[in-house]
Amino acid sequence: MSEPTAYELYAVKYAQRQARRAEHFIGGDPHDLPMPMDYFVWAAVGGDRTWVIDTGFEQADADRRKRDLVRSVTDALATIGVDAATVGDVILTHLHYDHVGGFGQFPAARFHLQDREMAFATGRHMARPTFGHGFTADHVGALVHEVFDGRVIFHDGDEELAPGLSVHLVGGHTMGLQVVRVRTRIGWVVLASDASHYYENMETGRPFPIVFDVAGMLEGHDTVRRLASDPSFVVPGHDPRVMERYPAAGSGPPGSAVRLDVEPTLPPDEVP
Ligand SMILES: [Zn+2]
Repeated sequence: MSEPTAYELYAVKYAQRQARRAEHFIGGDPHDLPMPMDYFVWAAVGGDRTWVIDTGFEQADADRRKRDLVRSVTDALATIGVDAATVGDVILTHLHYDHVGGFGQFPAARFHLQDREMAFATGRHMARPTFGHGFTADHVGALVHEVFDGRVIFHDGDEELAPGLSVHLVGGHTMGLQVVRVRTRIGWVVLASDASHYYENMETGRPFPIVFDVAGMLEGHDTVRRLASDPSFVVPGHDPRVMERYPAAGSGPPGSAVRLDVEPTLPPDEVP
């Protein structure tokens, strides 16, 4: 019997911003300390097939929203040997600007998306700034065009897309947020994306404030932990600590990319 597919898995950082702790928890935080945010895309490389998870944003959104675009997603992926121009499959965890904005950099890709996320991004809730702010209308409109060209593959709930790689509808942060579960040599790793922005959100049960359904987000924290072989194998969507817990990868400068198919190293003050 042949070995089941075990993917190489990477987190690739392309942008960052300065922020404070109080911005990242509903109800704020009593400690007024810096808590920067990183922006990632992820890549699962298995055999001759590479999956990219999310597409980042581009300079226009960096300017408009005052984010620091460190390098384009194309350049960031190139540091780990992934050519955005030829990638065949991209999973969009959700349609917020920082997850879908770079999709034009993937001209050969099909985009995997939950039905519910497209309904959310094109429906009534977008008229409310509370929910619409995280989306850039031009991205959503452009992706609708791709639907007509047959490039958007819709999923409804949990689905295995390939052996050892599946998507799971979580919701919470947005109506149709999906997470990605990937089989690696250390077991099942879960790319939580914005099901939990930081380790601390899911570890302390304090949701991130940009949220469609608070209860759904808290359930999502449980779901991602259940899907992973170990709770420490859940990779949050925006936490700079990801770059500290995993070994560096690729040809970029330090802090560009890490391998996620390796047991994470917990810092001494966080070892349980
Ligand atoms: Zn988001």
